[in-house]
Amino acid sequence: MQFIDLAAQYQHLKTKIDARIHKVLDHGHYIMGPEVFELEEQLAEYVGVKHAITCANGTDALTLAMMVLDIKEGDAVFCPTFTFFATAETIAFANATPVFVDSEESTFNICPADLEKRIQQVIAEGKLVPKAIVSVDLFGLPANYVEIEAIAEKYNLKLIEDAAQGFGGSLNGKMAGAFGDIATTSFFPAKPLGCYGDGGAIFTNNDDYAELLRSLRIHGKGLDKYDNVRIGVNSRLDTIQAAVLLEKLAEFPVELELRNRIADIYTRELPTELIKPILPESYQSSWAQYTVRTEDREALMNTCRNAGIPVMVYYRTCMHQQTAFGHLEYRVGDFPVAEKLASEVLSLPLHPYLPEEEQLNLISSVV
Ligand SMILES: *Cc1c(COP(=O)(O)O)cnc(C)c1O
Repeated sequence: MQFIDLAAQYQHLKTKIDARIHKVLDHGHYIMGPEVFELEEQLAEYVGVKHAITCANGTDALTLAMMVLDIKEGDAVFCPTFTFFATAETIAFANATPVFVDSEESTFNICPADLEKRIQQVIAEGKLVPKAIVSVDLFGLPANYVEIEAIAEKYNLKLIEDAAQGFGGSLNGKMAGAFGDIATTSFFPAKPLGCYGDGGAIFTNNDDYAELLRSLRIHGKGLDKYDNVRIGVNSRLDTIQAAVLLEKLAEFPVELELRNRIADIYTRELPTELIKPILPESYQSSWAQYTVRTEDREALMNTCRNAGIPVMVYYRTCMHQQTAFGHLEYRVGDFPVAEKLASEVLSLPLHPYLPEEEQLNLISSVV
């Protein structure tokens, strides 16, 4: 059994993916070929935004978003402490200061009440300029954008949606990737929509941001990449990866249903001693991970190991506990919910090609 079976997915889509890749090999436009632009149109349509701009990976997508929003030294950018490193890393990489926020126990996502508290603290201290919020759609579930958008508006902050895991999820019928001023995603192979290498995208309804992003990702280009009107980066999605993604995106709605079916079976069949993830009303999840909680995680991991069930811990270390952020001088106990989650979470195998009888066997060996 695989935690995420990318080989099974490839076998399912092999004929189509191979043909698409060969088309690129035949036309030879390996960088910014027609598939890149075709994919951007389809991504924008799927997410329901005006512009999708692809780039080299989900981390660059966040960095490009920071550049567009002019996030810089002296700025405070609020983000959850319970997330993948790139969320906070890109804030620091822009020379701004990440201000961490505790999580909501039931959804694993950024806690709006704690967010507002930390914004008020930064204002009261008067050392940093509150500039933006990066909210994360952790494990596939969109964050609470109803409350987060209201807070962003109240304090005049920019909002970036880190939808690296959320792509495919939705809230009140609005797709992940469509929230905030700018949203980002990742096509890392293990994400809900992944390619065969690194890849990423940025979503926005703002025409000016979109134009800027298209320049920034190619060395701050003006008319072309030899006319440079600003300092940018080199962050493009390879044409071959766009070709792979075009075929995977076509299959994505079907895979999303399968992911939801598998999540439903876990929720129905797993023993009640495990705390299972919830799906609040009007939310859809892309189920990037199916993450349970237990106070005795070591015992559960041992059981899984002995039964040959691959499991992962996302995430054992919160951002405020990372060595790289030691200089921010947070202490153990500063984020009680996130720290509790980090000590209790365990993610189970979930991918669209997990056969039901294998899943049921897995569940019975966990009981
Ligand atoms: C994966 C991930 C990223 C970074 O994406 P890469 O493509 O690996 O650079 C950023 N944020 C979150 C929440 C992620 O899960």
